Amino acid sequence: MTETTIGRVADDVKGRVLRGLALYRARGEEIVARPAGGYSVPSATREDRTYRVCLVSGRCGCEDSLRRTRGACLHVYAATLAEAKGRKA
Ligand SMILES: [Zn+2]
Repeated sequence: MTETTIGRVADDVKGRVLRGLALYRARGEEIVARPAGGYSVPSATREDRTYRVCLVSGRCGCEDSLRRTRGACLHVYAATLAEAKGRKA
């Protein structure tokens, strides 16, 4: 892996962390623990949409997460923040 590639991956991760933080700040109260496990996290772009996030596996039901082979999507970061803030049901 070249230095340029590492920089690009770091920027990619940073962007998703910041978008996850923005989502948590905007709609954090909508991030709720699901009875079956994991969290329900609202979409950052679609009002009517929520995704199921599993913090144990670090996976999410969104298109970004399904395409991704490593790293987490912004919903996983948002759910991680919600859990850290003690919003567990
Ligand atoms: Zn996601």
